[in-house]
Amino acid sequence: MRPRKVPLRKCVACQEMKPKRELIRVVRTPNEEVLIDLTGKKAGRGAYLCGQVSCFKLAKKSKALDRALKQAVDASIYDQLEQDFIAVEDEFLAGKERESDEDE
Ligand SMILES: [Zn+2]
Repeated sequence: MRPRKVPLRKCVACQEMKPKRELIRVVRTPNEEVLIDLTGKKAGRGAYLCGQVSCFKLAKKSKALDRALKQAVDASIYDQLEQDFIAVEDEFLAGKERESDEDE
């Protein structure tokens, strides 16, 4: 493995440290909405999850997002996020492939 600086973030569900690009960011916006942020640039408090639905389900079960975002997240919001998560998973994986040869 070549040494390189990769910014690491912790998945709030499985607690593993991973490179940012392998994680999906969930953000609590200043309007207190909880959204998936594929750009990683939205303003607000963020929490990271592995780009796989199994970690989202784990977060839902353990209410990890409530803790990470310091806000009570409604079950209906978890349900909505789960739908979104499944919808973006393919796009996310495709983006990761594209970037896999870049250092940044
Ligand atoms: Zn995880």
